[in-house]
Amino acid sequence: MKNLRPGGEGVFDAEVEGTANLPYTVHVDTVHVRQSHCDCPHAAGTKRICKHMVATVFTAYPQQVDAFKWEVEQEELAFQREEEAHRAELVRYVNSLKKDELREALLAALIELEERQDRWW
Ligand SMILES: [Zn+2]
Repeated sequence: MKNLRPGGEGVFDAEVEGTANLPYTVHVDTVHVRQSHCDCPHAAGTKRICKHMVATVFTAYPQQVDAFKWEVEQEELAFQREEEAHRAELVRYVNSLKKDELREALLAALIELEERQDRWW
């Protein structure tokens, strides 16, 4: 990212390094998003949003990156907690079974596993 320049309310111009030798010229308008443009092959002459625009916005609003990361982390933590809760439920269920019930459940699980392997692999 070179030369980030604010150009009014929610508007930024920048030069962003790309795969080409010359940096791409990026104009981002966060209020009128479709007014944004970049001269990279993906976005030039189109209304497409490209990674250079995204990089420009994240550079202009670094606190948004932190907020976004925090949200992703919260999602991951919630998923982990759900998995742990489910695993604990399984452990409780298995511990609640009597020996012959365990044998039956294990056999059923093994048969199902074999059938799945035949089906999918
Ligand atoms: Zn671009």
